[in-house]
Amino acid sequence: MANEPFSDEQKQFLSGFTFGADVARAVSGLPIISGSSASATVGGTASTKLPEPEADAAASGPDRLALIAQRETVAKGGKLVKEELAKQSKNPLDMWDEIKARSDAGQFPKGNDAFLTKFHGLFYVAPAQDSFMCRMRLPGGLIHGWQFRGLADLADRSAGPYLDVTTRANLQYREIPADQAMEILYGLRELDVIPLGSGGDNIRNCTASSLSGIDDCELIETIPLAKRMHHSILNHREMYGLPRKFNIAFDGGGRISALDDTNDIGFHAVTVDSSKASDDLPAGVYFQLTLGGITGHKDFARPTGVLLRPDECVDVAGAIVRVFVSSGDRTDRKKARLKYVLDDWGFDKFIEAVQADLGRTLRRVDEDRIVVPNQEDRLAHVGWHPQRQTGRSYVGVVLPVGRMTTDQARRIADIADQYGNGEIRLTVWQNLIIPHIRNEDIDAVHQAIVAMGLDDQSTSFRAGLVACTGSAGCKFAASNTKRDAMVIAAALEAKFVLDQPINIHVTGCHNSCAQHYIGDIGLKGAQVEVDDDMVEGYELHLGGGWGSNQAIGRSLFPPMPTEQIVATIVSIVGGYLERRQDSET
Ligand code: SF4
Repeated sequence: MANEPFSDEQKQFLSGFTFGADVARAVSGLPIISGSSASATVGGTASTKLPEPEADAAASGPDRLALIAQRETVAKGGKLVKEELAKQSKNPLDMWDEIKARSDAGQFPKGNDAFLTKFHGLFYVAPAQDSFMCRMRLPGGLIHGWQFRGLADLADRSAGPYLDVTTRANLQYREIPADQAMEILYGLRELDVIPLGSGGDNIRNCTASSLSGIDDCELIETIPLAKRMHHSILNHREMYGLPRKFNIAFDGGGRISALDDTNDIGFHAVTVDSSKASDDLPAGVYFQLTLGGITGHKDFARPTGVLLRPDECVDVAGAIVRVFVSSGDRTDRKKARLKYVLDDWGFDKFIEAVQADLGRTLRRVDEDRIVVPNQEDRLAHVGWHPQRQTGRSYVGVVLPVGRMTTDQARRIADIADQYGNGEIRLTVWQNLIIPHIRNEDIDAVHQAIVAMGLDDQSTSFRAGLVACTGSAGCKFAASNTKRDAMVIAAALEAKFVLDQPINIHVTGCHNSCAQHYIGDIGLKGAQVEVDDDMVEGYELHLGGGWGSNQAIGRSLFPPMPTEQIVATIVSIVGGYLERRQDSET
């Protein structure tokens, strides 16, 4: 058995499948024929192509690599979690007609179907709300005025009359009735928004630097790369067979961080200057590959030593995903993220598997040959700033806890069309940027933003306020995060004026959608016992950070009820402002 990785049953199962040779190698030692474009077969005579219809009929999970991984897990004595069994029972990507039938009948999905429907971006969020939430996909957070206006109109017809910006520079609808599910899916596609894979065990919205192309500090534009990654995901079924959710970010090294170190895959722009260059490493801009970020599990993505040209990133990300599909844990949801494969294998073994999939060796470079930029400006996502383009500025609009009404969304679209170039950029800080404003129009745009009840001031506590959905719409939440975040901001604004931002991240549960571990002040929802009753409250964490200030916030107090948390934060901020030295953060 030492040289025989598959049982007879597995061989029979696999015998009809045709693999690209390099993919085959990644799947636990399938025999390789030759060359990167050859195909391989298992357990029988090698051939270049085998007929597939029967095998396809037998394949009912998200994709073949995932099915093989499931089979291997079982063959090794592992017990698949219920989500894996659900994915095995039917392919979630083939549920369009089923979702439509349910929508026509005004019904929500139940049990496994509620999980599988998330593959189409629709989350049935009972018991928090008896409705769907819909998460979109907007690579790099870039959207155009006509789309924004269309999304607002669609929300007014088929969802709650507001849009939520998420911490992946994305948008969500809430309060979608059962009979409006298909109207949402049709409407989004007509606006060029494809939500496929925005929920469930999939690769989430690909993020990038929000100032891509307009930042005079950045090393390279990254929104085009996020878009290419997005299209590659949408067009490869194996990208939907993951053991768990997965995040990819591109950071161009400019003023606004894409928080790439909190992603499973982070691509961070760096330079190799001529003094450190060589024939096989010409001077220029590259992307440092980092892997395994998941701050909810208190870990940042770590550098792998791999340096990539921009045109190599998407292919390498695809290979990483395929290796993860084949090797990720399918028996324990808590261990089903890339971090745990890396902890188990180590980077060297993982990179070897990625190279085997790609069929080539990746460039690995000592850290002392690269320069990692440190140009972040923590206020650059709000307020007015000059662009790289002469005579143009961008404005970062503050959206309290990421929410805007549909009327506000339409007016933002009008500003983008009338005064900018029609673009709107959502950020991972749950706000939005309108770029390309002519400098002579700054005052008019400022007036228009204030008139719609929003803010473009960079000193507000709200600029650094990030909150997940919370108990108003998420069944996992222990607390009402968005409401409490606003209460905290109001309490702080009533007493203090800030000259530099304090990031307050409010998250409802251990899933850490608002990344409480990286906030200056981070809150995680908790039920707290008071006089024999359980009440809403939070764990308080202090001193988190990202990028060059990377740190996991520390918990210094036992969980407290919400009112006490608000008072405690006011006294912490007061103490900080009173005792800090110079501009100490
Ligand atoms: Fe829901 Fe928890 Fe995520 Fe908040 S952190 S949105 S409560 S899953």
